[in-house]
Amino acid sequence: MSIDAPWMRASRAAGLIGSDGTARPTIFAEMSALALEHDAVNLGQGFPDDDGPAPVLEAAVEAIRAGVNQYPPGRGVAELRQAIAEHQQRFYGLSVDPAREVLVTAGATEAIAASLLALAGPGDDVVTVEPYYDAYAAVIGLSGARHITIPLSEPGFQPSPDAIDAAITNRTAVIVLNSPHNPTGSILAPEHVERIVAAAARHDAVIVSDEVYEHLVFDGARHRPTASYAGAAERTLTVSSAAKTFNVTGWKIGWVTGPAELVDAVLGVKQWLTYVNGAPFQGAVARGLQLDDGFYDGLRATLQRRRDLLATGLVDAGFTIAPTAGSYFIVADGSPLGLTDAAASARALAVDPGVVAIPLSAFGLADAAGGASVVSASALRFAFCKPDHVIAEGVRRLQSLRR
Ligand SMILES: *Cc1c(COP(=O)(O)O)cnc(C)c1O
Repeated sequence: MSIDAPWMRASRAAGLIGSDGTARPTIFAEMSALALEHDAVNLGQGFPDDDGPAPVLEAAVEAIRAGVNQYPPGRGVAELRQAIAEHQQRFYGLSVDPAREVLVTAGATEAIAASLLALAGPGDDVVTVEPYYDAYAAVIGLSGARHITIPLSEPGFQPSPDAIDAAITNRTAVIVLNSPHNPTGSILAPEHVERIVAAAARHDAVIVSDEVYEHLVFDGARHRPTASYAGAAERTLTVSSAAKTFNVTGWKIGWVTGPAELVDAVLGVKQWLTYVNGAPFQGAVARGLQLDDGFYDGLRATLQRRRDLLATGLVDAGFTIAPTAGSYFIVADGSPLGLTDAAASARALAVDPGVVAIPLSAFGLADAAGGASVVSASALRFAFCKPDHVIAEGVRRLQSLRR
């Protein structure tokens, strides 16, 4: 078994195999293992500790008992596709045809993977912002396309117009957007979305818009899907998921909506990845999407309160923080505390005072390619999708950094 073996070529090219020939562990697995080992408060990986809404959980249990346990239809159960279409209409006034323009997937992860594998290959560019959700880079690597990034810079983690124009060219097959953004918690300003849509139209590129945090937008703002911008709908695949909205990250129910030809292209790949998934969960997620506004308002209010709890605690501990407009995350800079190397400090903080965060560099190109990164080396990503008492304990421990 050798790293040089020909059958390692694809994984090696995609940067998925380490120099010792083993699967490169994700930073989340590594940091969560450290959290367990040191009994640290885990503000690293972005999974919620709270359970999902009772009617949604009940619906899944009932479905299993009622025998909904075999392969569902390839595009997803009709009830869920209908609920997804109604959700897009109800929240955003977007019309999608549940029969042709909706596809249920194994989480947003599969929706993104199948979209990229369907639409990009060797000779193509796939453009993302940087920092980026790490799964994009892995799948772009597998597709054989080249990964080009548009740096986000502070204040506000926004792109520059010049960087947008430079990144999107005739080579661009797909542009992946993610707003609200993991890992920075920023929301892409409308003028930047407009510019990206115009560049996509000029170069006939498809936009894959990852909107898994669509219901986690704070301070009274509202999510605006990329597909709702002028000229965008015809070239945009919108991706979302039950994971972050209903606290069911283990269910892996996601979906993609968009023009029928694009959705068919994604289906063409998806059916050979998982074929189908999660039969008893699909109807339950439909139940969730039909919950009244009170549920969605409550979710937003809870996460906003937790954001504020964590933000205040980080500032009190001596970190400099970037404002979070949406998502589960706050980016904090430890330089004022002498924590200038985030990769090293993340490991140190897990041991003492026992709090786990993720270095922002894990979401940058340098991590995979070894090149210079646009991502700040001293920035850490903290997650606040945790119960108040967990955040409070994490914050209490961090106060010991201030001397
Ligand atoms: C969590 C997350 C996903 C994955 O969603 P699943 O439905 O669990 O596959 C995709 N994109 C972003 C930005 C995420 O944070």
